[in-house]
Amino acid sequence: MNYSDSERIATVLENLKIKKTTEIKDADLIIFNTCSVRQAAENRVLGQGLNIKKLKEKNPNLKVGLTGCMVRQTSIQPSQDEKKNNHKIKFQIDPLLKKSPWLDFVFRIEDLKQLPLIYSQLFSQKFKFESESASLTSSKISNPKIQNNAAVVRVALAATLQQSLAATLQQSLAATLQQSLAATSQQLSKSPTPPLPNPLLQETRGFFDSQQTNQLASQKTSKPEARSQIANYFSIAPKTQNNFSVFVPIMTGCDNFCTYCIVPYARGREVSRPWQEIVAECKKLIANGAIEITLLGQNVNSYQDKELKNLPPPQPSPFNEEGVIPAFVTLLRKIHDLPGLQRLRFFTSHPKDLSPALIKAFAQLPKLMPHLHLPLQAGDDEILHRMNRNYTAKQYLQLIKKLKKARPDIAISTDMIVGFPGETKKQFENSLRIFEKANFSMAYLSKYSPRIGTISAKFEDNVSHEEKTLRWQTMNEILKKTALAQRKKMLGKITEVLVENYKEGICIGHTPEFSNIRFPGSKKLISKIVKVKVTEAAAWEVRGEIY
Ligand code: SF4
Repeated sequence: MNYSDSERIATVLENLKIKKTTEIKDADLIIFNTCSVRQAAENRVLGQGLNIKKLKEKNPNLKVGLTGCMVRQTSIQPSQDEKKNNHKIKFQIDPLLKKSPWLDFVFRIEDLKQLPLIYSQLFSQKFKFESESASLTSSKISNPKIQNNAAVVRVALAATLQQSLAATLQQSLAATLQQSLAATSQQLSKSPTPPLPNPLLQETRGFFDSQQTNQLASQKTSKPEARSQIANYFSIAPKTQNNFSVFVPIMTGCDNFCTYCIVPYARGREVSRPWQEIVAECKKLIANGAIEITLLGQNVNSYQDKELKNLPPPQPSPFNEEGVIPAFVTLLRKIHDLPGLQRLRFFTSHPKDLSPALIKAFAQLPKLMPHLHLPLQAGDDEILHRMNRNYTAKQYLQLIKKLKKARPDIAISTDMIVGFPGETKKQFENSLRIFEKANFSMAYLSKYSPRIGTISAKFEDNVSHEEKTLRWQTMNEILKKTALAQRKKMLGKITEVLVENYKEGICIGHTPEFSNIRFPGSKKLISKIVKVKVTEAAAWEVRGEIY
C-alpha cells in the first residue's frame, strides 16, 4: 500500500511541476511516507532529525513533511510567533510536529489532495508555480491580502478535519487564490471532513478486552464524509513506476483491531472503492500496457461492495455451490476476465476472510497467480487470542491444506511476530511448530515492539531484547530450510518469468509463485513474460536460463 501511496504522492507533486532529484542534498522538499505498524519503525523515522537539521543548515529553503501510518492530523508546524503565543493557537496540531520540530508539515494520506495547498503555504514566498494548473506567481503571492488569508489557510489546514472550518477554507481559496489555483482546487477535497472516530485512543484500557475490540470492529465505517474523503484520495490516478506491473488499491483501512497494530487508528476503518471504478482503472492500465495487476488493501479480501454481493455470479458459475459469493471474489473474476491481462495478484489477506469461494478461485482462475501472502503472526492460540487475530493455529493450517488442494503449486508467505508480551518459551515453541508445518516460501519476521496508541502497548513488554533476537534467529533458521525446500522443488522445471529489471547481463523478475529469479538475458526483455528453466535454487531466489 505504501508503495502505491508513494506513487500517488509523486503524481500530485509532478502535477505541480516539482522535479524529482536523486540526491537528497539537492532537495527543497522531502516527504517521508511511513509504514509504522511497529514502534521501532516510527523511532527510525524520528531518528532522522539530526540528518535533516544538517540538510536544513545547508539549504534553509528545505521543507520536510511526513505522511503514512504515523499521522493523526493533517497540520503545518506553527510559526515561531504562533508558538510564542501558544494560547492563541486555536487549532490542533499533530503531536508529531511537537515531537519533531524538524518536520514542517504532516498529512494523513487520505488528505493527499490537500498537498498542493500545503505546498503553496510553505513555499508561497519563495517559489513560482510553473504549471498552468497552479500558476501562482510570486507577485500574486506577495499580495498582502493573500498573505493575510494564507494564515486562514494555515488554520484551515491545521484543522482540516474540523467541519466548522470547512467553509472558511473554501472561502479563503475562492477569495484569495482565485483563478490561480482553480484547477488545483478542483482536485482538492471539496469538503474537509472529520477524522474517523478513534475511541480506543481515547479510552484505551490497560488490558485486552476482546469484547471491546470486537464491538469496535463491528462498527463498520458509516460516515459518508469519511468515505468521500477516501474517495478523493483514490481518485488521484498515480503515475506508476512502470506500466507493465501495476498496483491498484481497492480498499483502505482495517476493522480488525489486532492489538499490536496502529493501522485501524491511523488509516481508519475499512472503506472499499466502488467496483465500477476499480474495473475502469484496470481497463485503463491494461490499455496502457499493464499485463500484471496487484490489487491492494490493508485487508484486501474483506473488500465490500453491496452491489457486487447482490449480483448473482455469471452463469455457468463454478462458485454456485458456495452460496453467497463474497464481493471480493466477484471483483477478482471481473478483473481476471479483462482481455490483455496476464497476471493477477492481491495483497494482503486476513485468514478469517479467506472464503471457500476465494480458495476455489485459485483453482479456477488461471491468471490468478499461485501465491498468497497470509499473515499468521503467531502459532500459539493464547497469543493469537491476545493479538485479537480471530483464528486458531489449527484453523490456519486447515486453510493452507485447502489452498494446496485447490492449487497444488501455490506458495504461501506470511508475517510473524516473535516476543509478543507474555510469550513464554513454550508458546514460542508452539509457534515454531506451526511455522514449520505451514512450510512457508517466505516470511517477514519481526521482533515485537510496542506501538504507542495500540492496546498491546499497555501490556507488559516482558520478553527481553536478547530473547526476542534469539527467537527471531531460531525462526529464521526454519524459514531458510522451508524456503530452500520450496525453491528446490522448482529445479529443472520451466517457469514463466515477468522480467522487471536488468543489471549487467542479468534479468531479474518473479515466477508465478512470486519467487525472485535471475537469469542471463538482455534489457529488451523487461516487461516481457519469458520461459525460463530453473537450474539453481537458494533460500531466497532461484536462477535459471532462457528456455
Ligand atoms: S488485520 Fe490486523 S495487522 Fe493487519 S492491518 Fe488490520 S489491524 Fe493491522
